[in-house]
Amino acid sequence: MKLTKGKIADLLNEPGCEHNHKKGQQGKNKACTQQAKPGAAQGGCAFDGASIALVPITDAAHLVHGPIACAGNSWGSRGSLSSDATTYKMGFTTDISENDIIFGGEKRLYKGISQIIKRYDPPAIFVYSTCVTALIGDDLDAVCEAATKKFETPIIPVNSPGFVGSKNLGNRLAGESLLDYVVGTAEPEYTTPYDINLIGEYNVAGEVWSVLPLFEKVGIRVLSKITGDATFEEIRYAHRAKLNVMICSKALINMGRKMEERYGIPYIEESFYGVEDMNRCLRNIAQKIGDEALQQRVETVIAEETAKLDIALAPYRARLKDKKMVLYTGGVKSWSVMSAAQDLGMKVVATSTKKSTEEDKAKIKKLLGKDGIALAKGNAKEILRVIAKTKADMLVAGGRNQYTALKARIPFLDINQERHTPYAGYVGLIEMAKEFDRALHSPIWQQVRQPAPWEKVASSPALKDSLP
Ligand code: SF4
Repeated sequence: MKLTKGKIADLLNEPGCEHNHKKGQQGKNKACTQQAKPGAAQGGCAFDGASIALVPITDAAHLVHGPIACAGNSWGSRGSLSSDATTYKMGFTTDISENDIIFGGEKRLYKGISQIIKRYDPPAIFVYSTCVTALIGDDLDAVCEAATKKFETPIIPVNSPGFVGSKNLGNRLAGESLLDYVVGTAEPEYTTPYDINLIGEYNVAGEVWSVLPLFEKVGIRVLSKITGDATFEEIRYAHRAKLNVMICSKALINMGRKMEERYGIPYIEESFYGVEDMNRCLRNIAQKIGDEALQQRVETVIAEETAKLDIALAPYRARLKDKKMVLYTGGVKSWSVMSAAQDLGMKVVATSTKKSTEEDKAKIKKLLGKDGIALAKGNAKEILRVIAKTKADMLVAGGRNQYTALKARIPFLDINQERHTPYAGYVGLIEMAKEFDRALHSPIWQQVRQPAPWEKVASSPALKDSLP
């Protein structure tokens, strides 16, 4: 896949993405096309985004063609788990030197591919370009094509140099590589009318394992997981599914739309967080597949699971009731986690709307109510101000905000990709309730909130006078 200006513009203007629906009208969200601003925090680069989307393919090797830091900075930053192969955990890089920059790095890349094949013999190798190797003009496509012929193993170019744009664009570039080189290249052993693909679910902390048993119970077969805990083979036959279920819809929306165009597979956007969303997800899938018996089974499973859940959650609901939370995360999670917290009886007093589409914002507004605060932009200072204003009991955000919570002397829970606890599905909600409870009721907060010894002295004239 050649990376041209036109290709990048197409991906940024992806018609499936709701950011682009308001084109020509006021209030258009320009997040997709905004250039990185020097000095501003941008999140990951396009290479980072591409590797986030593809590295969860567990039996493939992932080779980063560039200086060692590109691979080193992002490797292992996401806890995508595997039920079997561990090849994806190996950090392969060509680690190019000054010599390669002057004379070209293609030979080194070919040698790297050859070494991986000889030593590990994976079913496929994804080769990622980075800023330096794209700038010196290494022809990734040509090297991958030659290596594919020579080693008779798919060697897939992922043209995702960091400078082309954001992490989100990188996700889409990864989707293009899957569409161009992987999907549709093999056939499944058999198909059923109940085959679906999960797209944009990366099995962080093993979340996909919380929902697969539910699908199995109602009789839905997950044909391909794109890409959490996936094998390379299962993605090759993803074109035979009857429905694509987009979990993090913005990440690989181009895949959903293009698979609909190419293979006639419709797609729906769902969330696995919270009772309401999980129920809706199962109902929507059954309704889209259009089988009455399946719809009936879904209702039975929902009734069983929610009854069990009510019993399991009762002690936590009592302890969490009316606890106030500031939620600071992005995109779909801004409302899906809010919905899960509300299921537990908690109050979300503020949430962020960064990276949210107009549709996300409408859901946030509805869930927040008239007194809730929607944070369009945020930084530590703003979050501290909101915590103080709302008298929030805890902060739920990405890992780097834990120090903000410590400054405010309130509990913190990591909700982003670095977390180690799965929150998806009905069992995930129990885990989430346990984590909220642990964080909120830890005895440490009593000690932390006591005045420091010197503060006690300063506020007590009697103590002051007694000092030598
Ligand atoms: S911005 Fe470029 S140099 Fe930096 S990590 Fe991304 S690909 Fe590597």
